Amino acid sequence: MNGRVGFGYDLHRLVEGRRLVLGGIEIPFPEGLAGHSDADVVLHSICDALLGAAALGDLGRHFPDTDPRYAGISSAQLLEAVLAEITRRGFEIENVDVTILAEAPRLSPMLEAMRDRVAELLRVSPDRVNVKAKTNEGVGAIGRGEAIAAYAVCLLRRSER
Ligand code: MG
Repeated sequence: MNGRVGFGYDLHRLVEGRRLVLGGIEIPFPEGLAGHSDADVVLHSICDALLGAAALGDLGRHFPDTDPRYAGISSAQLLEAVLAEITRRGFEIENVDVTILAEAPRLSPMLEAMRDRVAELLRVSPDRVNVKAKTNEGVGAIGRGEAIAAYAVCLLRRSER
C-alpha cells in the first residue's frame, strides 16, 4: 500500500457566549470555543492531519482566519473542502484517529455521535474513524478548563483509479 501518514493538532480557548461544537456535534455546555469559525478543534485537527498527509500545508494556509469569507463558517464546510482537495489529488482515507483533551464537559457519552458525524463528513464507514477523549488531569490551561485541544492522525492511500 502506498500509504501517507498525517498529523494534526488544534487548541481553542473556552469562552462564555459561544456554542460548543466538537466533532461536528453541538454539545450542551455553558461555554464554547472562541474562534473565527465555529472553532471545532476536532474537525480542525482532522483537516490538518489530512492536509499534512497530502503535503498540502495546513488549514490556516487554505482558509486564512483574516479572510472575512470564513467568519462564522461551519468547520464541517472546511472539512468537506479539505476532503474535496485530497480527493482531487487521488487520495482516499484509510483511517482517522482523534484524541480530545478537555477537562469538561465529560465527552464519553458523545463520542459515538462524533465518530458517526466525522465518518459521514469524510464519506467513509464509521469503522475507519475513532474519536476518544481524556481530561488533562487538572494540569495547565486545559486542566483549568480554559481551553480544549485535539490531536488527530490519519492514513491516506492512493485511490486505484
Ligand atoms: Mg482551529
